[in-house]
Amino acid sequence: MQAITPNVLQRDMILSRLEKEYYDLIIIGGGITGAGIALDAASRGLKTALLEKNDFASGTSSRSTKLIHGGLRYLKQFEIALVREVGRERNIVHHLAPHLVRSEKMLLPLIKGGTYGRLTTSFGLMIYDVLAGVESQDQRKMLSREETLEREPLLDAQRVEGAGLYAEYRTDDARLTIEVIKTASGLGADCLNYCEVLGLTYKEKMVQGVEVRDGISGKSHTYNADVIVNAAGPWVDELREKDHSLEGKHLHLTKGVHIVLPHNRLPVHQAVYFDVEDGRMIFAIPRGRITYVGTTDTEYSGSKNKVLADKSDVLYLINAVNNMFPDQKLEISDVVSSWAGLRPLIHEEGKSASELSRKDELFESPAGLLSIAGGKLTGYRKMAERVVDAVVKKMHDLDEERHFSKIQTETISLGGYTFESPAEVKGFEKHVAARLGATRAARYLAWYLVSTYGKQTDLILSLLDTETDNEDLLIEAECRYTMKYELVMNLSDFFVRRTGRLYFDIESVRKYSGKIARLMQDHFHWSDAEKQQQLTWMKEQVKEVSHFH
Ligand code: FAD
Repeated sequence: MQAITPNVLQRDMILSRLEKEYYDLIIIGGGITGAGIALDAASRGLKTALLEKNDFASGTSSRSTKLIHGGLRYLKQFEIALVREVGRERNIVHHLAPHLVRSEKMLLPLIKGGTYGRLTTSFGLMIYDVLAGVESQDQRKMLSREETLEREPLLDAQRVEGAGLYAEYRTDDARLTIEVIKTASGLGADCLNYCEVLGLTYKEKMVQGVEVRDGISGKSHTYNADVIVNAAGPWVDELREKDHSLEGKHLHLTKGVHIVLPHNRLPVHQAVYFDVEDGRMIFAIPRGRITYVGTTDTEYSGSKNKVLADKSDVLYLINAVNNMFPDQKLEISDVVSSWAGLRPLIHEEGKSASELSRKDELFESPAGLLSIAGGKLTGYRKMAERVVDAVVKKMHDLDEERHFSKIQTETISLGGYTFESPAEVKGFEKHVAARLGATRAARYLAWYLVSTYGKQTDLILSLLDTETDNEDLLIEAECRYTMKYELVMNLSDFFVRRTGRLYFDIESVRKYSGKIARLMQDHFHWSDAEKQQQLTWMKEQVKEVSHFH
């Protein structure tokens, strides 16, 4: 496995290169799709830039169910090729970042009067194993009623008839995106956040550049490239409109919501995937100190820039949980956080939100703008391969002399310093816990640090004067690390996308906002008014994800 050590990401240096260079490829959008394309292109030798209008992963790529999965439910829609591709991709992405993409057993309870019986479930899971090429030790098991209740005592003993148990992987989507971006940067791609593409420029009617506004300095620039790829997720059609090429197929946005509960309010022992009366399927996934539950799937036509869970979304999920785990008696006041995202699906006449395909599609406009839409977090590497193949073909048409290497991303590990196996990750986690003092708090922090940063935890610990399980000191080191290596520009970048704390540990956001704001004030030379503005904004975000109207 090839390891690419992440660079120190320094905004001024990236900006000065963007000013000077002529690129082979400029990618618009820093979600997982754009990140994957940047990594694939840079590894094949293309001079690549990626521009993101907000923070990396601030769109859909921080708001998914955070599973690297084969999409069991797509079997129901007979999307065999999709299940096969993403099923196989799960394994590859797990090997590329075993600290970040972790195996998670999924329990599929069989309920009296539920949608699926034992035979259908067993057959469906078997097909899934075959399509996804699941290794024998991880293949599905069918459990009896007693075995199911032993594994998951929270289930309703009156209604449970058994369960299927199968293998999926859990990740942190925003961390996966930033690790892919950092790896792409290590291979020479210039990736910048807070840099919005406002317009496209043309030469002889062919798209050849982008007009951007730097959201930090407020300055405007034009950057040029042979090929421009639009990977703007839910905003893809806005860029196609700027290119005057929005016709035929277009996006269909649906909203998906997740709620977060303290783990002791829904203390499931593993992830559970259960059906709801309306025929949808819902996940309940334990993670550290919380359990999260989702997702909804409803039509969406509101602002793409602010997508929030509302009271009806939250009540829908609470009712679903109370129906499956009746003793929990959850109420809206139990919900400590939430997130909501938009699926950038491709519209198909007459199909409802949950019937639309999750397949990706690549469009080329008459002016040569390549737009990629649809797809899944899990399939980012394969999507990137298709896009970069198309880019390479265009480059070759422009200049027959230019040749690029074939795809290599299957062997480029993420996060810089490779782990060979999940066992090595566990060993490293134990080693970190011992360094932090071997207390209960140290074990939790070691798990948190290693599943968030992998071996880069060493760099964070090296910023401490003494190694300790004192979270006050650790968070300070984390903040310094993310400002230096991960282009963190504000409180939200840190608390939402680099550390996931707004979702997985919202109390720590309340507790540490002041401290992190002071550190950032020193680092970015903010005035007191700027620091206060940041604190107010962060407080608003805490309120938005934990109060529902
Ligand atoms: P985005 O992440 O939205 O990225 C697009 C980026 O483009 C944004 O960051 C945006 O700011 C930027 N941008 C837009 N306009 C401009 C501009 N003019 N200039 C510069 N930048 C611009 N997939 C899975 O595999 N597993 C799951 O468990 C899963 N669960 C999901 C649950 C939900 C609720 C949803 C909504 C999706 C889920 N998905 C899942 C799908 C997956 O999350 C998406 O397919 C994926 O994140 C889309 O990534 P993207 O990069 O295409 O879009």
